[in-house]
Amino acid sequence: MPRSLTADARVAVLAWYDDHGRSLAFRASRDPYAILVSEVMAQQTQVGRVVEAWSRFIARFPTVDALAAATPADVLRAWQGMGYDRRALNLRRAAQAIRDDHDGRVPDDVEALERLSGVGPYTARAVAAIAFGRPVGAVDTNIRRVLRRALTGSDDPPASAWMQAAANASVDRFRPAAWTHALMDLGATVCRPADPACAACPIATWCRFASNPTNARRVTRGARPSKARPSRPAFTATTRWLRGRILDRLRAALDGSWTRVIGPVGVHDAEAVAAALRALARDGLVELDPADPRLARLATT
Ligand code: SF4
Repeated sequence: MPRSLTADARVAVLAWYDDHGRSLAFRASRDPYAILVSEVMAQQTQVGRVVEAWSRFIARFPTVDALAAATPADVLRAWQGMGYDRRALNLRRAAQAIRDDHDGRVPDDVEALERLSGVGPYTARAVAAIAFGRPVGAVDTNIRRVLRRALTGSDDPPASAWMQAAANASVDRFRPAAWTHALMDLGATVCRPADPACAACPIATWCRFASNPTNARRVTRGARPSKARPSRPAFTATTRWLRGRILDRLRAALDGSWTRVIGPVGVHDAEAVAAALRALARDGLVELDPADPRLARLATT
């Protein structure tokens, strides 16, 4: 099994990206801090929502120092609409570490980046490649799918160590930033999970998945997987939804005053709301009034 894309395939991917890559506002930035923010935001949020939120966040906190000096409540307000709010507090901690331990400059090597709060293997490599031109392979969901299919011919997940090695070996040494964006875009728009558009793919010639006869039905007809998806509970019934609504309510108190939070909220009864409030407090996102735990506000320290 090949461990990396060929040089010709790399050239084809980059040429495709130059013509078809997504034009996203944060990709125009060369500021490592702004790139770090965009990558943290993109971890679990659709890219369309990241664009607007990133511009707003950078306008509010234009520098590492500005973010490091902000209160948790300020950062959580600027994070509104993004979900997974713990990322906001981790980003603030990362800014404080950059200010205190790295002279205010985002570190340029993967190991130091990975030591920052909320920065995992993917984000560290994406920032190293995009902000600093390091030839390291970032592996997100889209990139993993493209490389897995192209190199193994299958959708079966290879070992993560194999995948990381393949990503490192495939990265274009001259254009690591464009390469990272290109593979993300290829996975998001062409090598889609259920219906890869191989006819429009720049690496179809070299791709083992496209040439594997067992994949022909999916590739040529673009069929959806035949397996029925397990039914999932409505999003509004999840704890994640409830936590988001509680935080939205607390964000509305712009002066940071205490807000009474009692159930029901949607389908969640008073007990569930109280439990969600306690969990948010344990996670450091909110503070509860010791005298009345139904009174809450965004964390101030
Ligand atoms: S040829 Fe098809 S399966 Fe292979 S990388 Fe391109 S879109 Fe994905």
